Amino acid sequence: GEYRDRLHKVEPQLHSFLHVSETAMQEAEAVDQMVAAGRELGPLAGVFVGVKDNICTVDMPSTGGSEILKDYRPAYDATVVTRLRDAGAIVVGKTNLDEFGMGGSTEGSGFQVTANPWDLSRVPGGSSGGSAAAVSARQCVVSLGSDTGGSVRQPASFCGVVGMKPTYGRVSRFGLMAYASSLDAIGCFGSSISDVAILLNVISGHDKFDSTSSKRDVPNFAEELVSLSNIEAKPLKGLRVGLIRETIGAGVDAGVVSAIHAAGSHLEHLGCVLNEVSLPSYSLGLPAYYILASSEASSNLSRYDGIRFGNQVGSEELSSLYGNSRANGFGDEVKMRILMGTYALSAGYYDAYYKRAQQVRTLIQKCFKDAMNENDILISPAAPTAAYKIGEKTDDPLAMYAGDIMTVNVNLAGLPALVVPCGFVEGGQVGLPVGLQMIASAFREDILLKVGHIFE
Ligand code: GLN
Repeated sequence: GEYRDRLHKVEPQLHSFLHVSETAMQEAEAVDQMVAAGRELGPLAGVFVGVKDNICTVDMPSTGGSEILKDYRPAYDATVVTRLRDAGAIVVGKTNLDEFGMGGSTEGSGFQVTANPWDLSRVPGGSSGGSAAAVSARQCVVSLGSDTGGSVRQPASFCGVVGMKPTYGRVSRFGLMAYASSLDAIGCFGSSISDVAILLNVISGHDKFDSTSSKRDVPNFAEELVSLSNIEAKPLKGLRVGLIRETIGAGVDAGVVSAIHAAGSHLEHLGCVLNEVSLPSYSLGLPAYYILASSEASSNLSRYDGIRFGNQVGSEELSSLYGNSRANGFGDEVKMRILMGTYALSAGYYDAYYKRAQQVRTLIQKCFKDAMNENDILISPAAPTAAYKIGEKTDDPLAMYAGDIMTVNVNLAGLPALVVPCGFVEGGQVGLPVGLQMIASAFREDILLKVGHIFE
């Protein structure tokens, strides 16, 4: 009840939600009755969860933030949503995003701009800005986002909440609207590590509807944290932490750099061994990412043709029906990505762009592998700056893309990464939050949660 009141109270200022559930209160009452009847409840019984609007829900529209899917209602729940409901969670609404996940500020939504709860004149980050803002403002307890190049981690940093991008394949993407399939991951937001650990447990694991989902066992992340409550035991003693040199250099806000250094010293105090490591191919990640992500997007978005999905703009001829529906339905950023991607995949350019980018991807994977031989986790900022002003980068796509420098490499390598708030920089009324990104080897979310938990 408290969360719901708050959801409605702050929503007119924040605009985090595109749709709010009309049945949430009844569902919550049903849970109360189950409690009264002494029934056994799931791990998220009665918990209000926000779900990014590119994740399909049967009981609410799912638009992907795009005009082309305005009022679209899927015929099924995404697997993550089914798992949430099975665990007793209440999906309280669908959160705002940059259209189909393409953007870093949520200003690219086809419907509305979401504000950052710390300073309403600033962006919440993106593309999962609605999910991050909603948790930050306590409109819901936890939320789901998607992370193709940083869309969970950067908004978590901007909104001062915890954000987890799991290993590629850890969580089923059945029912997630595909942006770039070799990079897409569904991730979690919460205001504590424990909340994120419980949520991750609920949504992880193999799904027969997603052939890229891993069959590996899922550890009990939440339970492992409980055993750490005895801090006297120095659970982080000897843990090797590598601070990525390339992420604290030129172009990164000085306040962000000092917050990351402070976080590093804090980890040392907790018994970690801190080293600087170099990832020589780091700066190649951004161009490689934008070529690969746009290429995959140009293919994935071909399904929005006005016939199978989405709003149709009628015409006498079939080809102009496709053209008109897409010209009307897609926003500018999405159109630009489709053009870039189609170009990069064209005969004659394929070798120079797409193939090159794939080679860079292999190089980046190798750099991470080498760095992980010497370190248990790597750390860096989650973004080069704290939240910026609404409108500041809308006319400058390259400046917007540059903001993804800290996060895209992780997706290219398929690794898990966790962002935890680690300090503030000046700005706004009370300062603006800064997030620490921690990266681990594939399927080692457990280490990240453990460090995050002790660090909290
Ligand atoms: N900002 C990046 C992009 O626009 C990442 C988005 C994401 O992770 N969905 O592609």
